[in-house]
Amino acid sequence: MIANYHTHTFRCHHASGVERDYIEKAIAEGLTVMGFSDHVPMPFPDGHQSGFRIRIEELEDYVRTLQALREEYKDRIEILIGFEAEYYPAYFDAMLDLLAPYDYDYMILGQHFIDNEASSYAATPVTDEAYITRYVDQVLEGLSTGKYTYLAHPDVYNFTGDENVYYKHMKRLCEGCKSMNIPVEINLLGLMGKRHYPSDRFYRIAAEVGNDAVIGCDAHHVKDVADPEALRAGEEFAAKYGLRVLETVELKNPKK
Ligand SMILES: [Zn+2]
Ligand SMILES: [Zn+2]
Repeated sequence: MIANYHTHTFRCHHASGVERDYIEKAIAEGLTVMGFSDHVPMPFPDGHQSGFRIRIEELEDYVRTLQALREEYKDRIEILIGFEAEYYPAYFDAMLDLLAPYDYDYMILGQHFIDNEASSYAATPVTDEAYITRYVDQVLEGLSTGKYTYLAHPDVYNFTGDENVYYKHMKRLCEGCKSMNIPVEINLLGLMGKRHYPSDRFYRIAAEVGNDAVIGCDAHHVKDVADPEALRAGEEFAAKYGLRVLETVELKNPKK
């Protein structure tokens, strides 16, 4: 691995570690590009305070800290400033407005819920086709904005109903990603945590469609950055399906 685009910090309130320690680990593991993608602040109405994101009032410090580190480390590693962001249609414009004053490089799409955090988490088992339809529709609509660089954990949606229904919608998802030139992420947090993703059934479809893959650490602790054992597992996983793994990805500018 030379580039990782999926990194969290203590700022999202469920990860640990400060930016500098993540950067030092990235350098020690030989990375040349280190992208931070902490969970984006989301301007929900009624003052709803999310428990797993950077808070709105903490956003400035996140960006300023990374800007200073980007400068300090510029001869040793390229630091990218990004966000892992959902696509919630009702809040999307307000979210972009919130980020607009800041200098940042990219967003990855991590669709953890449908519409907002009041619905059930994407990893909760679901059997109803109506939900997977909406989930995939929302992901594709988000990607079609052109603002997302890649799709994080594309297989987080835990549909446990009819396999033909899963195939139909995930094929639609994979074909959409391919046509929009969006890589799909092999998520090392899920792989090492033995979660239901990355899933064989999803990557069989991605292989059939011919998606490009990217390995993402989804680091929530400093030790997760380019962890050699996790990387080996990720590469083996990709090789099993003959997936093309991109070493670096082309950033899509979210400010255009
Ligand atoms: Zn997280
Ligand atoms: Zn993440």
